[in-house]
Amino acid sequence: MKRALIKRIAKIVGSDHLSVDPADLACYSYDASGLSVKPEAVVFPHTAQAVSDILTIANRERIPVYPRGAGTGTTGAAVPAGGGIVVCLSKMDRIKTIDQCELSMVVEPGVITRKVQTLAEEKGLFYPPDPASLGFCTIGGNVNTGAGGARAVKYGVTRDYIRALEVVLPTGKIMRTGTTTAKGVVGYDLTRLMVGSEGTLGIVTEITLKLIPLPEEVGTCLCLFSDEVSALHAVTSFFQAGLLPRAAEFIDSLSMQCIRDNIPLDIHGSAKSMLLVEVDGFKESISRQMDMVRDCCKESGALLIRKAETKREADAFWQVRRSLSPAMKKLGFDAKISEDICVPRGRLPDILKVLREIAAKNDVTILSFGHAGDGNLHVNILFNEGQGPQRDKVNKTVASIMEATVRLGGTISGEHGVGLTKMPFIGLEIDEVQMDTMKAIKRIFDPNNILNPHKVFP
Ligand SMILES: Cc1cc2nc3c(=O)[nH]c(=O)nc-3n(C[C@H](O)[C@H](O)[C@H](O)COP(=O)(O)OP(=O)(O)OC[C@H]3O[C@@H](n4cnc5c(N)ncnc54)[C@H](O)[C@@H]3O)c2cc1C
Repeated sequence: MKRALIKRIAKIVGSDHLSVDPADLACYSYDASGLSVKPEAVVFPHTAQAVSDILTIANRERIPVYPRGAGTGTTGAAVPAGGGIVVCLSKMDRIKTIDQCELSMVVEPGVITRKVQTLAEEKGLFYPPDPASLGFCTIGGNVNTGAGGARAVKYGVTRDYIRALEVVLPTGKIMRTGTTTAKGVVGYDLTRLMVGSEGTLGIVTEITLKLIPLPEEVGTCLCLFSDEVSALHAVTSFFQAGLLPRAAEFIDSLSMQCIRDNIPLDIHGSAKSMLLVEVDGFKESISRQMDMVRDCCKESGALLIRKAETKREADAFWQVRRSLSPAMKKLGFDAKISEDICVPRGRLPDILKVLREIAAKNDVTILSFGHAGDGNLHVNILFNEGQGPQRDKVNKTVASIMEATVRLGGTISGEHGVGLTKMPFIGLEIDEVQMDTMKAIKRIFDPNNILNPHKVFP
């Protein structure tokens, strides 16, 4: 990129908010996928107008632009694959309004997700989406990946809490989508189109979030099973019994090996699988819902069902689930690839069986856990980096997992998106008619293909 151009962009954001320092460029070259390409510059705009001015220049000069929140995405979606400019939204982090009458909050995209939740709770309101990364990811990143979390089973995902957006289009035009009212059906739903678009259609500069009343009480319990199928059967039986838990987290037998010592209970030696179940609602409803959880788990053959008696004990149960990622290191592998497939919840036992077969065939280790309540499994392929033939097996394993997921009526990504890493598999799920329509939409928004180019679609 020419120096004169960099100077013009520095003038827009202020020279303190643009960097071409190689150390900074290295910091903004990667996301949590581990993929890395250095940009030519990174800028930190403070206003939508600044974003618009940057995009106007980039569009005219055909410079690729890569929007970025906190870089916690796992698919390379924020990686500046073609160099160019990283536009990091982290400095646009103002909370504009919280409205207890309209049940809404207007925020800038760089706000950390936990802050949205905490501020809502202080007003007796609830922003349910809870990606495990909520302590360090941004709400703008959540909008653009359509992030989910453990509570999606009852409350849905980020998409379900976005009323309106301000978006700067790749041409530099500023567009407002949606309504500030609770309802609104005028025109096409461009808000929903933007959600999950992985920074390929526009840069989101303001978000109007929908909030709901904060549930009065929460009930949490930990259930141990002698096998995985019984635990998954318990999950489907919740729904058949008319219960909608707010979380139903599953841990498979290999995960159990890793976290057995972290479970704060005197556990049965033969426990091979675990469910962490949470319900919420009015105070009086909790014991009834917890009884239903207990009955379903008992009838599915649970070895142990323990209700948390205090908030502290509930936190300790969640800590077991959170301890899993670091605890995996015990298995002695130095690398992992994590997929986030989603199947109809009734097909979870089938996908687990297929995963075992794929692991045996390719001689690799697969560990799975996740949001069983919505059929979303985090499938971890564990291996040792640097072993050439091993990498080959890992690639074959990933391809087989994607094929099996789609065959079982599932989707190759329940919450992380496509980015770069899942691009080779999108054709398994999206047919030609859909793909052509999506590509045509991209051309309308971004005629010169400057915004996060060559992502999502092969
Ligand atoms: C430990 C860990 C746990 C995680 N747990 C979960 C989980 O439970 N659920 C889940 O869904 N994900 C999870 N993730 C993935 C990740 O946190 C989410 O995808 C998150 O939404 C990314 O937010 P971010 O701010 O880091 O965005 P980035 O990674 O910076 O960007 C993600 C995408 O959004 C685009 N983007 C970012 N901001 C904007 C903007 N303002 N305008 C336009 N485009 C933008 C980028 O270009 C990119 O395509 C996890 C990741 C880690 C590392």
